[in-house]
Amino acid sequence: MKHLVNLVVQTKSQPDEIQDFLTDASFIRDGHADRVVLPETIANISEILKIANRDRVPITISGAGTGTVGGRVAFGGIVLATDKLNHIKSIIHEEQGGFATVEAGVILADFQRAVDQQGLLYPPDPTERGCFIGGTVATNASGARTFKYGPTRNYIRRLKVVLASGDVLDLRRGEVRADAQGRIRLGQSIDVTLPSYRMPATRKNASGYFIAPGMDAIDLFIGSEGTLGVICEIEVRLLPKPEGLLSGVVFFTDEADVLALVADARKRAEARAIEFFDNESLNFLREKYPNIPSEAVGAIFFEQETTEATEETVLNEWMILLDEHHALSDSWFATNEQDQAKLREFRHQLPVLMNEWFAHYKQRKVSTDMAVPDDAFAGLFRLYKDTLRTSQLRYTIFGHIGDNHVHVNILPRDDAEGARARELYVQFLKYAASVGGTLSAEHGVGKLKRDYLRLFYTDDQLRAMASIKKALDPNGILGRGNIFPEELLPQLQ
Ligand SMILES: Cc1cc2nc3c(=O)[nH]c(=O)nc-3n(C[C@H](O)[C@H](O)[C@H](O)COP(=O)(O)OP(=O)(O)OC[C@H]3O[C@@H](n4cnc5c(N)ncnc54)[C@H](O)[C@@H]3O)c2cc1C
Repeated sequence: MKHLVNLVVQTKSQPDEIQDFLTDASFIRDGHADRVVLPETIANISEILKIANRDRVPITISGAGTGTVGGRVAFGGIVLATDKLNHIKSIIHEEQGGFATVEAGVILADFQRAVDQQGLLYPPDPTERGCFIGGTVATNASGARTFKYGPTRNYIRRLKVVLASGDVLDLRRGEVRADAQGRIRLGQSIDVTLPSYRMPATRKNASGYFIAPGMDAIDLFIGSEGTLGVICEIEVRLLPKPEGLLSGVVFFTDEADVLALVADARKRAEARAIEFFDNESLNFLREKYPNIPSEAVGAIFFEQETTEATEETVLNEWMILLDEHHALSDSWFATNEQDQAKLREFRHQLPVLMNEWFAHYKQRKVSTDMAVPDDAFAGLFRLYKDTLRTSQLRYTIFGHIGDNHVHVNILPRDDAEGARARELYVQFLKYAASVGGTLSAEHGVGKLKRDYLRLFYTDDQLRAMASIKKALDPNGILGRGNIFPEELLPQLQ
């Protein structure tokens, strides 16, 4: 009988060869696995899963490892790396935009470049574009442009997924839906009964399985964090590339002005991105960008699409808005692609600096990813500021303020500060849960945040969520440790 070691796929098992597959940006440090397999085809993946399922071997699916919650960090078993599924199979133009078919291991930045060269736009833009498309689907990734365009989910038309049994599902949006009793039939014989919990009324959500009345079966897999199947091939919707873009990084001497500007810009401008930086964030960035005005205590990064006809009006409207809110005159604006890329890089550098901190001090990441409904954001933001100001810990607050979703990174220098940082984090989570927020708006739950899901869902709701996994992966071999506590999963040998 065939065994996993006899498979004809590239396999790595030496500790120094596999180490790179056992970490991600969560800085969980004790991951381990017997080996890493690197399949090249769907047939390879199906064969691997059939054997693993028969032998009850845990399989952790690996993308590029940019995830921040330890989703691809294995604790035993085998890592199935998607690196070799790296072909862009087609990019097709239609009258308005188009669509493309890509394998899961294509790097997002490469794909975005390829569609851009063809005059098209793929909107999902997690700040870190070194991730794989498969990873972004598995986490329902979002980014700055989500403010206008919504998360990855909105662009997925079709998925080819290999289930734990080795069966291959080819799911096209619109073809399989939940019936009136909340049942979904997948393939020949899998019946899933949807739980009755409601998802939070936030603009973004990446915490547990997507559930909605009459939902499309494809949405179960988007955001499932490697727990329901291996996403192998993806068909995405593309939009026409905007004619022009105005972007800016605008500085302020009073944080109250920044917040008032954000509130006004949400009403008056048609921005595609509005991102926030607090004073501590600017202090970190000053190391790399000494030209940040010294008197600035807060900033926003914005982008708004333009056409030749609207270019001037858009610029004027932003100038009026910024003037009304006392923006500093030495702010930065960009109208050409090269300069715009530099402003996006400025935004990207901040989470990179945060990750360098966690790596340097050998601490697990302590970073909030909660979004809350529109009317609850001011209260959450106040809680962040009031608590952190007196905490004697270093921290930054930045991110997707347009979507009521900022990241607080609490930056410990040792284990004692790490414990204190996690206490504050739990305080913030409890508040977010009390106002109908979500644990994770975009990074997912993974292993790092798994235990906190209990603050947002009751045990009965979590059991109902886990029953979806049991229907699709009865032996519980896929993505073990992600989303669910071990006691809700089947026992392995
Ligand atoms: C500096 C920085 C900034 C970031 N900013 C953002 C941001 O703005 N928005 C955002 O959403 N995220 C952000 N992230 C997080 C990260 O980039 C995303 O979560 C990304 O989508 C993960 O992709 P990956 O290929 O690296 O996946 P990995 O980290 O390898 O895996 C992530 C999860 O997906 C599962 N998975 C991966 N591939 C597959 C597959 N083919 N089939 C099934 N499951 C799979 C894994 O098992 C794991 O659970 C940031 C990360 C960094 C380091």
